[in-house]
Amino acid sequence: MSADFSGQVAVITGGAGGIGRALGAALKAAGAQVLLADLHGSDDVVACDVSDPAAVEALAELAWQRFGRVDLLVNNAGISGGGGRLWKADFAAARQVFEVNFWGVWHGCAAFAPRMAAQEHPSAIFNVASENALFCAVPRAAAYIASKHAVLGLTESLREDLPPHVHAGTIIPGWVLSGLTREGGREVAMPADRYAEIILPQIAARERFVVSHAYNVVQMAERTEALEAAFARSAPRYDGDIEYDVRAYIERLKAGG
Ligand code: NAD
Repeated sequence: MSADFSGQVAVITGGAGGIGRALGAALKAAGAQVLLADLHGSDDVVACDVSDPAAVEALAELAWQRFGRVDLLVNNAGISGGGGRLWKADFAAARQVFEVNFWGVWHGCAAFAPRMAAQEHPSAIFNVASENALFCAVPRAAAYIASKHAVLGLTESLREDLPPHVHAGTIIPGWVLSGLTREGGREVAMPADRYAEIILPQIAARERFVVSHAYNVVQMAERTEALEAAFARSAPRYDGDIEYDVRAYIERLKAGG
């Protein structure tokens, strides 16, 4: 059965192009009311620079004023830049990547999460990372890759802060045809509307990880296997190894043990 978003309100940043626009169209077709935001406003798009926390706060205000509720926020706005060999990269461009890709997502979560928590009905925040959150898909893109790893970490951490009726998940696109992807990749980039079709049911199902490009598991395994091999070599498991586990320690404290 196709996903049904009737009666729901969705806000998408970076919604004027690529994935954001395609997802907005798919959500509308599935019955949602959709508020698109992007750097430059137009008839269908509200102007909002996600790197500016006050602008994102104003976007949240506007959404609740206009619709009285928000069921879904997709922090999608993102840029590339600051590429090249790490030590040769333009620092200002690399920092700008973080301003948008990481802080933009943080600002979205900070503005919308408390308002969603205050609503009684279930809602969700999805943050758009990348396959570059799982492995280095593209060479010489340290700022982009690090920013996307950071989005994954931020979202995983956010999950622990939210009440049970507010979900948070990470969207992990592989190569999708958009303004961000170069002409050269057209033959391997997935069309954005096809991509939106794949992720819509996962968003409806409130998945923790929204996935699409099957071969990602192969690339991802290379790192996992290297990590497991490092542990096997230098820090193998032993009876009682939980003694130095921080998470287990915190759980014990919480339980009063
Ligand atoms: P895109 O360039 O087509 O769309 C990104 C949108 O974000 C644009 O409309 C742009 O104007 C907007 N934007 C840029 N800076 C902004 C800002 N400061 N405030 C508000 N909006 C801003 O690219 P896309 O591929 O659709 O990218 C969407 C998301 O998907 C990004 O986070 C990107 O990193 C991620 N992603 C894309 C791919 C891919 O292959 N296309 C792969 C992995 C992840």
